[in-house]
Amino acid sequence: MNYWDREKELMPREELEKLQLRRLKETVNRVYTFVPSYRAKMDELGVKPQDINCLADLKYLPFLTKKDFRDNYPFGLLAVPMRDVVRIQSSSGTTGKPTVALYTKNDIDNWAEMIARAMTSAGATRDSVIQVTWGYGLFTGGLGGHYGAEKLGAAVLPASGGNTKRQVTLMHDYGVTMLGCTPSYALVIYEELMKLGMDRSEFKLKSGIFGAEPWSENMRKEIESKWEIDAYDIYGMTELVGPGVAVDCAYKNGLHLAEDHFIAEIIDPDTGEVLPEGSHGELVITSLTKEAYPVIRYRTRDLTRINREQCDCGRTHARIEKILGRSDDMLIIRGVNVFPSMVESILLQIPGIEPVYQLIVERRNNLDRLEVQVEVSENVFSDEVKRLEELEGTITRELNSGLGIAVKVRLVEPSSIERSEGKAKRIIDKRNI
Ligand code: ADP
Ligand code: ZN
Repeated sequence: MNYWDREKELMPREELEKLQLRRLKETVNRVYTFVPSYRAKMDELGVKPQDINCLADLKYLPFLTKKDFRDNYPFGLLAVPMRDVVRIQSSSGTTGKPTVALYTKNDIDNWAEMIARAMTSAGATRDSVIQVTWGYGLFTGGLGGHYGAEKLGAAVLPASGGNTKRQVTLMHDYGVTMLGCTPSYALVIYEELMKLGMDRSEFKLKSGIFGAEPWSENMRKEIESKWEIDAYDIYGMTELVGPGVAVDCAYKNGLHLAEDHFIAEIIDPDTGEVLPEGSHGELVITSLTKEAYPVIRYRTRDLTRINREQCDCGRTHARIEKILGRSDDMLIIRGVNVFPSMVESILLQIPGIEPVYQLIVERRNNLDRLEVQVEVSENVFSDEVKRLEELEGTITRELNSGLGIAVKVRLVEPSSIERSEGKAKRIIDKRNI
C-alpha cells in the first residue's frame, strides 16, 4: 500500500483528534478576531472562542452557507490581509453567482499536499504521467490537479478541458497513466477513442481520478470495464479548497476525508441538528488549516454519511460514502425523492444502454412529471422498432419499481444528448418554480 504522508494518514485517532482540536481552536480564534461577519454571528449566539474545549463543542458554532459566501463576495470572509493572498479561484457557478476561493502561500501548499495524497491513494507515483483534464482557469479543478501532480513528482500534462480528439492524441502520444476529469467526460473521451478507431492496447492508462459531479457505483463499473482501468472518486468544492477534500483508496469503500485539514459533521438538512454516527444527512465541513478563507461549519448541501471505522487500507481518516447528489439536485416527484444518480444506477443495470441520460421535469395540472431520456447504443438503435419498444418497456418498468414513481421513458439516438467537457447537465427543469 502506498501512502503519501504516512504519519498523517495513519495517525492514531486519539492523536488525530487532538490535532484537530488544536487546529479548530486556532481557526475559531482567527475568524473571531479577523472576520467581522463571523464575530457577529458568534456574538448573536453568545459563543466565544474560549467556549470551544472539545470537538463536540463544534455544534455551538454558527453554520456558514452559500448565501454567506454570496453576501460577502468577494473579500468579506477574508481572514488575512489581501497582500498575503497569492491565488484567486472561483466556483463554476452551477447554482448561481460564483463563490470565491482565496489562498495564501500555505493554503496552496496544503492543497497541493491533499491532491498529491489523493493521487497516491489512487495509485499514482512519481513515475506516473497525469493528464489533468479538469478546466484550467478560475475553476479549481485544473490548477488544483496540476499543483498536486507536480508536488507528487509525477509528469503533469496540463490538457485542461475540451477538444476531445486532442485529449485522445495527448493521452496516446505521451503514454498517460492517470487521467483526472469528470466521470461523464471520461466516457466522452472513450467514445472518441472508439470513433477514431484507435486500439486500447496502444494506451498506457491505468487509472483515473474522477470527480466534480455525482456518479453512481454502476457508473464506476461502466468506466472501469470500458477503459480497463481503476476509477477513483475524488471530492471537493471551491468553498473548501477545491478537489482533494476526500478521495477513494484502493478499497473503494468510501472516500477518506483529509481529516488533518477538515472536520466533518452530518446534520439533518431541515432542522440543522447534528445526527448520530452513521446517519445519512447533509455534510457540514469545518476547515482546520485554511488561512485566507477559513470555513466554520460550512453546509455543503451534499448528502452522504460518515464512517469512522478504520479502513482495511490502514488509513485512520473517516470515510464519506459516495455522494448521492446535492440537495439542490434532489427532485421531489409526487412526494418521492429522486436523484439523477439513482436513475443512473438503475439504467446501467440494463444492457444496451449508454450512461448518457437526462431528466426532464415538467409540471402539468399541478403534478410533477418526470421524463427520462436515455441514449441507446448504435446497434440497439438500428434494431427493429419492436426491439426498441421492448427496451423502452424494460427501462420504464425498472425505473418505476426502482424509484417508486411512474416515469416516462424516451429512447434517443446515439450522440443526441449534449456532451459536457466538465460537469454533465443531468436535469432540465421546466417547472418555473
Ligand atoms: P459549483 O458549485 O459551481 O458546481 P464546484 O466545482 O465547487 O462549483 O462544485 C462542488 C460540488 O460539486 C460539490 O458540492 C458536489 O455537489 C459536487 N461534487 C464534487 N465532487 C464530487 C464527487 N466526487 N461526487 C459527487 N459530487 C461531487
Ligand atoms: Zn481506505
